[in-house]
Amino acid sequence: MDPAVTTRAQVVVVGGGPVGMLVAAELGHHGVSTVVLETNPETVDQPKAGTLHARTVQGLARRGHLRAQPAAGDGLSRRNADAFHFAGLPGLVITAPGTEPAPIYGRSQADLERDFEARARTRGVTVLRSHTVTDLVQGPDAVQVTAQGPDGVRQFTAEYVVGADGARSSVRDLLGFASETHPATVSALLGLVRLTDPYRVPSGWNRTPHGWTIAGVNPYGHSRFFTIDFRGPHPDRHAPLTLAELRSEAERILGHPVPMTDPVFFSKFNDFSRVVCDYRKGRVFLAGDAAHVHFPVGGQGLNLGLQDALNLSWKLAHTLAGTAGKDLLDTYAAERRPVARRVVDNTRAQLALMRPDPGLDPLRDLVSELLGVEGANAHLGNMISAQDTVYPARTSDGSPWEGHFLPNLPLTTADGPTDVIRLLLDGRPVLLLLGADEQAHRKQAESWSHLLRVVRAESDRQLPWDAVLVRPDGYVAWASDGGPLAGTLREWFGEP
Ligand SMILES: Cc1cc2nc3c(=O)[nH]c(=O)nc-3n(C[C@H](O)[C@H](O)[C@H](O)COP(=O)(O)OP(=O)(O)OC[C@H]3O[C@@H](n4cnc5c(N)ncnc54)[C@H](O)[C@@H]3O)c2cc1C
Repeated sequence: MDPAVTTRAQVVVVGGGPVGMLVAAELGHHGVSTVVLETNPETVDQPKAGTLHARTVQGLARRGHLRAQPAAGDGLSRRNADAFHFAGLPGLVITAPGTEPAPIYGRSQADLERDFEARARTRGVTVLRSHTVTDLVQGPDAVQVTAQGPDGVRQFTAEYVVGADGARSSVRDLLGFASETHPATVSALLGLVRLTDPYRVPSGWNRTPHGWTIAGVNPYGHSRFFTIDFRGPHPDRHAPLTLAELRSEAERILGHPVPMTDPVFFSKFNDFSRVVCDYRKGRVFLAGDAAHVHFPVGGQGLNLGLQDALNLSWKLAHTLAGTAGKDLLDTYAAERRPVARRVVDNTRAQLALMRPDPGLDPLRDLVSELLGVEGANAHLGNMISAQDTVYPARTSDGSPWEGHFLPNLPLTTADGPTDVIRLLLDGRPVLLLLGADEQAHRKQAESWSHLLRVVRAESDRQLPWDAVLVRPDGYVAWASDGGPLAGTLREWFGEP
């Protein structure tokens, strides 16, 4: 490949893990010319994330990425709850409104990545695997990206770059993004192995005075087996893990022989945590693990990244189409960074509660007791599932609903039954008109009608407003109990 030839795109996504591929699929949907540069020649099947939490499920369903949607008008009285844990303590129940998909959706990270990649390719995105980004130079109007591909060095020019290149992000390092970090205090081992005496290994989350084992015991095949040692971080985290090491750690914690064979995957990790101080430097954004990492307790890391992707991509698409308000792209960091900090804090709190020191038993008992209190349980469930996410308001005279996620409402339109999930499938902001003042709202929105989906509908719910403007990611931008609609539209989508 002649290095003098430059490939142009509106957006280059560095890293085609699940987060990068979702950004690409969303940008492709909006017709943004996008190139993904990914080191791996194909998706790597590693036992990492397998849990999508409620807010991710709800966001992905609204963008058509999950088939987990309830039927229109379905489930009004359905109890929508899944059992989970907090710091390994049983009793947490994650609930979602009855009109939403089930709060927990199990799907491997690798399968999600494959799905998003397929969708990105179908939507015209160029995915270049076996391409590793080695350099990035920002100019005032564009970013130059250098990648090493199978045929040599290649150059790319993009208006914007999204660094979704994981925990060891080159984009972050090349541009010197500063980070807020907490050092590692524990060491964890993970193996996908055959347990040859499986009935002696406790299934699930198990604490002993010496640490934790977390096992998905499969007596007929490979089991996913974790250990957590609270005596300190690994002396050499990058030295490869061996079967003998995993076995000896399992036996130290459980206090009896844990025979295992046939390892197919090993990993060592710890609780080092990071949130970058800003998610943006000029034309370059970070998303997913490139922007934040933490201990994987509660299964929140991928969820955080996928919600970054859903937040950033429509803002990039509107900016590139010239239909963005001033500073729209800055709302990405303003909205997503506090959410990441809260997740880092909750994982650190959970890990503190997991320390095997018997002196913590009364605290664990107290938290278990609180899990039995409905309000406390709901508080923690909403935190782990990110259903408590509220973005900062942009307007001073806004509705109290501004920044909140609009729950799925069964609706009736002239075309028949529908709901909020379906109305958001085409990726446009939706102006939902439910009351008598319809014409006044239509008139204010007239100048933005080319980018809005304006829908007249009836709802059998008692709602505190008669019109609402929903962003493409499902959050409320405006409701009729706030200031003027035209002001909000100008703020988010610019002068018509
Ligand atoms: C053991 C374990 C269990 C976990 N369980 C959960 C869970 O249950 N739920 C959950 O939500 N999260 C979980 N996580 C966290 C989750 O795996 C990560 O948050 C997720 O992988 C982040 O996705 P990403 O796309 O941001 O980064 P990655 O998946 O790391 O993808 C980054 C991609 O960038 C590519 N890349 C890197 N550098 C370059 C470069 N210079 N040029 C081109 N490409 C590059 C890499 O090859 C990679 O494909 C777990 C993590 C671990 C370790």
